[in-house]
Amino acid sequence: MKVKLLAACAAVGLVSLFVGRCTSVGREAQFVMGGALVDVGYGLQDGIESYDFEHDHEIGPEEVWEEMLRHNRLSSGMRSRFPRATHHPLVALLVCMDARIDTNELVGDTRRFYYVVRTAGSVMSEREEEMLELAVANGVKLVVLTTHSDCAAEKVAASAELRPRFPALGRAVDEREARVSSFLGRPAIAAAVQKGELAVKRVAIETLTDQLVER
Ligand SMILES: [Zn+2]
Repeated sequence: MKVKLLAACAAVGLVSLFVGRCTSVGREAQFVMGGALVDVGYGLQDGIESYDFEHDHEIGPEEVWEEMLRHNRLSSGMRSRFPRATHHPLVALLVCMDARIDTNELVGDTRRFYYVVRTAGSVMSEREEEMLELAVANGVKLVVLTTHSDCAAEKVAASAELRPRFPALGRAVDEREARVSSFLGRPAIAAAVQKGELAVKRVAIETLTDQLVER
């Protein structure tokens, strides 16, 4: 009886996999289901109190560090048991370091599919420009430069009270547009765009809904 049940499950699984992989509706359904399962996984971890850095303010920095290492042991242990396929990223995303933005929630699984550069205020320095150019040299076809609503770095830049305390951050936000122009003007980037080998898009992220709005 058990063998029959297993065989039936395997058959259903194979058919689902075939339908899922071979039709656009199936692939879309798999994409959404995968995201939902990731959410379920995050939800499981959310509910475990000792995993919560945010609300346990009584623990000291070394205890937080120990906790982080323990999480890494648990996570990397799972990864070695369930290795994933590797992919060559075609997209590079520049995103603010704001913890409310999860790139996996923005566009699905970004692990191994995207190069993700995170900086305060989504600002580039010369280093990030070079890093993105290196990504393009390694095959990236789309660079997405983002900003987001309710950005703490932008608030610093706009605040007469906070700017004296965080002058470099304020300046970096001020220079954000100039840095974008500088990046677009880099010879290798300009040439790739002109040849149609690279697109550079600018989007605003709605922080609370994850919606992207092209700028
Ligand atoms: Zn921000």
